[in-house]
Amino acid sequence: MPSARKTSSGPRSGLIFGDLWEFDPAPETADPKLKARYDLFIGGRFVRPRSGRTFDSINPANEAKLAEIALAGPADVDAAYRSAADAFKAWAALPGRERGKYLYRIARLLQDRAREFAVAETLDGGKPIRESRDFDVPMAAAHFFYHAGWADKLEYVAPGRIARPLGVVGQVIPWNFPLLMLAWKLAPALAMGNCVVLKPAETTSITALKFAEILQDAELPAGVVNFVTGAGETGAAVMGHPSAAKVAFTGSTEVGKAIMRQLAGTDRKMTMELGGKAANIVFDDAPIDQAVEGIVNGIFFNQGHVCCAGSRLLVHEPVAGQVISKLRNRIRVLRVGDPLDKNTDLGAINSREQLGRIRRLVASGVREGALMYQPPCRLPERGYYFPPTLFTRVTQSHRIAREEIFGPVLSILTFRTVDEAIEKANNTPYGLSAGVWTDKGSRILRMSTELKAGVVWANTFNKFDPSSPFGGYRESGFGREGGRQGLLDYAHLA
Ligand code: NAD
Repeated sequence: MPSARKTSSGPRSGLIFGDLWEFDPAPETADPKLKARYDLFIGGRFVRPRSGRTFDSINPANEAKLAEIALAGPADVDAAYRSAADAFKAWAALPGRERGKYLYRIARLLQDRAREFAVAETLDGGKPIRESRDFDVPMAAAHFFYHAGWADKLEYVAPGRIARPLGVVGQVIPWNFPLLMLAWKLAPALAMGNCVVLKPAETTSITALKFAEILQDAELPAGVVNFVTGAGETGAAVMGHPSAAKVAFTGSTEVGKAIMRQLAGTDRKMTMELGGKAANIVFDDAPIDQAVEGIVNGIFFNQGHVCCAGSRLLVHEPVAGQVISKLRNRIRVLRVGDPLDKNTDLGAINSREQLGRIRRLVASGVREGALMYQPPCRLPERGYYFPPTLFTRVTQSHRIAREEIFGPVLSILTFRTVDEAIEKANNTPYGLSAGVWTDKGSRILRMSTELKAGVVWANTFNKFDPSSPFGGYRESGFGREGGRQGLLDYAHLA
């Protein structure tokens, strides 16, 4: 409660502020309402796994166990597909406006419980509460609102054609934006009239299972959405199930390739949202202070656990010294630590495995001759943390310039001409995103035409909207999520 003071800006001037208003409780004080044990969500109910197996979900900020999660075996995945198949006919036959009402209801219920979900997401995944509160949860709700709007307008998805649902869709998602990736997958599939079997990542299953409570409260017909939890084997069973009409995967390129090998020779429709190694390109005429903020946001947002992170900075030689020196100053004031503290900029690394991978790649950068800078920064004693890290003297052949690190590590290269910037930016097997910082509109147009990336941001970075399709080229995958294009990926066109 704030201290009482006179204000003239209240509803009636002269009244005491503290008598009338109280500050909202800080988001980190919301009760995440976690259960000690989470079962599978099949046929609209929480059910014990037939496998009889469970695994633990850990809080990466302090390594404490948060909950026990059911591990779905092949029989559980099969039960989930059967329940989705049973629900499909009635769900697909509902008028679009009725399906839209369910999606609106889901979006509103998520908004009602936004604080609770933000805290749960932060506890389970390690991301700063500021991000789960201001980005993950609102964006997830926005995806349901947006697709609710489409549900009764499907004749405009492909004008002149008839768009029909595909059937039961199998979906597997990663741990970096657990609730948001779930929304990206579920909302278009449901709006189009499909039913779903979805597997969240093994380190971040909790918000999906909490989301199942929202589906129950929204009275979504049983079986339309089913959640099976577990690791790679469960994922392979979801992707490989013979009754899946389509599979949609978001995760690493390595696993994406394994799934494509597994499904080679079948007529399964597929979309793959895979890894990235984006170039963030700064020209000498860019607004440098803004660019520095964009670089920081591009690589340190969500601890760098972002598929489209601007992990390769390409900076024009005339301003390289200035940009690097400003960057060093800027990252000295980034706060690393407790993700539940609303002042934290970088929270915890999602898992011990991911921390090990970041450390190995950073060590390879040092070994291969790049120059590392880490600001002085005290990390918490327990939990998985890594400081913001810059590498200069990076060459194109270094592993840190080629491989996705998926952590708060920026590799900095320089260039002299526009052609060299384009050549270097495209010199990667990936093609998910890129950023361009320049004052010249014509240069932005040229760069966005010649960069082989699904998204090119100009004088900004990491901006998303449900109406804007997102997806990659080359080893970053195929298919789009968001917008009309995202809906087409869940439709059969007649
Ligand atoms: P991952 O590939 O290890 O795991 C992703 C999911 O696949 C998890 O749910 C996992 O359990 C499951 N899985 C593992 N082996 C499987 C198998 N053989 N068959 C089926 N499923 C299997 O990736 P991750 O470490 O969880 O996520 C990070 C990766 O995701 C990064 O490469 C990142 O770039 C990518 N990503 C891409 C996008 C995008 O839109 N392009 C978005 C977010 C993350």
